[in-house]
Amino acid sequence: LESPSIQTDTVKALQEFLSAPKKVAITMHHNPDADALGSALGLARYLKKKGHQPTVISPSVYPAFLEWLPQENEVIVFEESKTEEIKQIIDSCDLVAYLDFSVPSRMEALEPLFCSVDKPSLLLDHHIAPSMKGTFHFWDQEAAATAQLVYRLIAAMGDLPLLDPHIGEAIYAGIVTDTGSFKYPSTSREVHEIAGHLIDIGVPTSTIHYRIYDNNSENRLRLLGYLLSEKLRVLPELRTAYFTLSAEEQERFSSEKGDTEGFVNYALSIRNIVFAAIFMEKEGKTKISFRSIGDFPVNEFAQAHFNGGGHKNAAGGASYASLEETEKLFLSLLPKYKEQLLTVKR
Ligand code: 5GP
Ligand code: MN
Repeated sequence: LESPSIQTDTVKALQEFLSAPKKVAITMHHNPDADALGSALGLARYLKKKGHQPTVISPSVYPAFLEWLPQENEVIVFEESKTEEIKQIIDSCDLVAYLDFSVPSRMEALEPLFCSVDKPSLLLDHHIAPSMKGTFHFWDQEAAATAQLVYRLIAAMGDLPLLDPHIGEAIYAGIVTDTGSFKYPSTSREVHEIAGHLIDIGVPTSTIHYRIYDNNSENRLRLLGYLLSEKLRVLPELRTAYFTLSAEEQERFSSEKGDTEGFVNYALSIRNIVFAAIFMEKEGKTKISFRSIGDFPVNEFAQAHFNGGGHKNAAGGASYASLEETEKLFLSLLPKYKEQLLTVKR
């Protein structure tokens, strides 16, 4: 497997660093998804097998459909009352590991805790525009998932024999989610080869799909039904479709964290639509997810107008304006992009 992001010198330095047992504090971005959490837990289990002491600390809760990942019950989820305990872990560790983000603010509440110590760091990520550099830096914008980088790293360390079905299922969860089940253009030959290897070592890939995708609560499905029937707005002349979701509506459907994950893709699945969004009222902010097909870079759109960023075809942002105001702003911006939207090949 070719590994452009895995530099031999860096691997050597990391091997050297890990030649004695180390305490490692691993974290990932706020609201971790399967790639963030899967990468963290896959790395943690790998490090443990090598004789190290990893601790996974999440900036916030993660969705219930991830509550089968290996050792997820050992993850320390940040809450105010755990500040001292987490501080202690970070202060006494030998290495911090940053997974699936490379902008410190994405750690949210954990940012001050991690950023106030000066420790060697391991960074594995595939998001554009990194603003932090790991001592051991493994970053590749072309990678489909951070989990793919975890696999690459284990391979480069010469440790593929340590891979077991539990490390494998954590990696697979990240890959399957971040490739949209092997659908997005980032789904390279390498991604399929890794999946093939994981099948060989006994990772139950089909079961993982069911756990992640066929794990709806009735409330989530009813909320989706409501959004599709009442809240979908389609602008065929702009090849754009979007939803808005107020706090009241989320409450009405007893929406839980993570429930709206993936809804934006329904807007993008409409024939001829190339730009989709969902606007959600969240904790006094309007949180936005953008998705696109082809050459319409939603990360640039999110960065230019909504303090956000992400990948070319999947990005997000936020606005401090109300839901209505944010929708209005969005609608006022679209005509400027009309020409570009019309030329996108779907
Ligand atoms: P989602 O729409 O699933 O929340 O996020 C999709 C992608 O957009 C994420 O993987 C992340 O890279 C990026 N993203 C989402 N929200 C933000 C944000 O507020 N700021 C930045 N810089 N990126 C975001
Ligand atoms: Mn990712």
